[in-house]
Amino acid sequence: MSTLTVSVVTPEGPILEDSFDMVVCKAETGEIGILPKHIPLVAPLQISIARLKKAGDTRQVAISGGFMEVQPDKVTILAQSAETADHIDILRAKEAKERAEKRLQDKSDTIDRYRAELALKRAINRLEIANS
Ligand code: ATP
Repeated sequence: MSTLTVSVVTPEGPILEDSFDMVVCKAETGEIGILPKHIPLVAPLQISIARLKKAGDTRQVAISGGFMEVQPDKVTILAQSAETADHIDILRAKEAKERAEKRLQDKSDTIDRYRAELALKRAINRLEIANS
């Protein structure tokens, strides 16, 4: 059976490179499942969890948006930040969540709500993996 080489790359360097049977990512347009021999595509990703499947196991990676490039035998995920479950600092994510929630409760005009909403999404995304 053919496999896909999956690379997850951030500005800090490669996070993961391995072969998998299937990749499920959340593109801006919705969830996309990629199997070997998929047609080439580039898609922007949501703040979401990438699910990398191999032999009945699923490896989860928290992705802070970015892009997915698909070739028939390779998937590259380029993200501003990405963490596998074992690299997620739960306390840090909880603190980031609380900080963002507090900012969003503040009704003053000085708050960058969009930035706070993104920070909240990143924190919730990390906690979802860490708690699963
Ligand atoms: P924080 O406010 O805690 O920095 P953030 O969502 O603003 O969270 P990012 O800008 O997405 O953080 O990431 C900055 C760097 O910190 C990246 O290398 C990312 O992998 C890492 N990082 C952020 N939060 C965590 C976490 N909870 N556990 C492990 N690494 C994290």
